[in-house]
Amino acid sequence: MAGFNHETNTYCPAPTVLDDFVRWPGTKVLAEAPKTATVWGGFIDRARTLGAEPVPVYTADAVPSGTITADTYATIRAELLTAIAAAEPFDAVALNLHGAAVVDGNDDPERDLCEAVRGLCGDRPLGAVFDLHGNLSQAMCDHLDVALGFRSYPHVDTRARGEECIDLLARRVRGEQRASIYLATTPMLLPSTDTNSGAGAAANRACERVEALPGVIDCTLMHGFPYADHELANVSVLCSAVDDFAARSGAEYVAKWMWVHRDNFVVTHRTPADAVAEAIARSQSADRPIVVNETDDNPGGGAPGDGTRLLRALIEAGLPDGTATFGFVWDPEVAAQAHAAGVGAVIDVALGGKHDGLHGEPIRASAEVLALSDGRWVLKAMGKGSRVNLRAMACLRIGGVDVVVSSRRQQTFDDGCFELHGIDVTTRRIIGLKSTKHFRAFFEPIAFSIVTSDGGGLTSERLDAFRRRRDRRRLWPLDDTAGQRTD
Ligand SMILES: [Zn+2]
Repeated sequence: MAGFNHETNTYCPAPTVLDDFVRWPGTKVLAEAPKTATVWGGFIDRARTLGAEPVPVYTADAVPSGTITADTYATIRAELLTAIAAAEPFDAVALNLHGAAVVDGNDDPERDLCEAVRGLCGDRPLGAVFDLHGNLSQAMCDHLDVALGFRSYPHVDTRARGEECIDLLARRVRGEQRASIYLATTPMLLPSTDTNSGAGAAANRACERVEALPGVIDCTLMHGFPYADHELANVSVLCSAVDDFAARSGAEYVAKWMWVHRDNFVVTHRTPADAVAEAIARSQSADRPIVVNETDDNPGGGAPGDGTRLLRALIEAGLPDGTATFGFVWDPEVAAQAHAAGVGAVIDVALGGKHDGLHGEPIRASAEVLALSDGRWVLKAMGKGSRVNLRAMACLRIGGVDVVVSSRRQQTFDDGCFELHGIDVTTRRIIGLKSTKHFRAFFEPIAFSIVTSDGGGLTSERLDAFRRRRDRRRLWPLDDTAGQRTD
């Protein structure tokens, strides 16, 4: 079992280097992952249940960011392949991949990796689990016996998909015939779409109709990752079946369904100032918090997480002390400043807006240090059981808003970052956070309602703002004639 996870936003100005990756040996994975709601947790625990010995050998994972340098990928590739080769003898290989990595000079590193691992496996079964935001290729799938994608966004089924991958690999080890895997592509870039309700849930039901057909093993809608300027970035459908015809017709059915229903996936969001005004208006009659999510500065999609547009709008609203809280802004400098000053101190800060010129100016203000922490907690909803370490963190009161600051980048998955600083989010009228959909796994049940803010950052839903220079295909929603044949 090995892993390589990166979602590459090719619009990020800075490249992703080796230091950005957390590289774990198998022993560390084996110590951390069991029982967690992750692909790794599913791999390891399921293998044990089946009486197989799970042998994690290596994983390299980074928070989404810019294009990976060629040297970085070469190092990770060599480490991963060496680790698998050293685990001989084995019966099967399971890979935990994202599917949307881009390396300088290689738009499909997962294909390269799967091909190389196939070389080590020979005829032994090889399977992989992908994030539904992966931009996959048929050429990559051709190297696999098992290819599954997450079905849920928020990704709350990661563990279940890891378990299913192990089940299918075990069946292959016992001699079951190799499945046909077909990837149908569509000329669509999908604005971020959750699967809890609406169009995203309806699309999953279309996949379920395919799975009910004879011979179909699995059918998954791959939403794809639109912030990638290359020709694999689009919505696709991954279908596995007992023969080529069933796999192809199942995948093509859902691909056609997506095109026909494309208008249901259109989203429009408010500007930060409008989102804050709307949240305040809704909070007048609410008995629970209103959550405002800053979708365009989501570190989970490659944006820095130090943007200031939504926070500034919240501060400028002039709300009474303790009404609103914001979690969190990535700014190691300000976190260190707060730790040096101590709780109760008042410091002059220039918060956020330092990483690039795309997410607002630094907020220059006087800030009271309300609380300090070491930035460690355990996830509660999505990724439940996984340990988080964002290093030195602080909670500052700026203009009446209690703002959490971190030393490392991450999106907000749950209330851990608030709780760590003594904030009970259920007592606040307005909660600001940086995430596109994953926060919903925790916050949807506790929120009165959710307002989305889009300030035009690197994970903005305004897909037409992203110029496609390398990929010249006609793609919806940039071009509604994309589905018409020209030949
Ligand atoms: Zn994802």
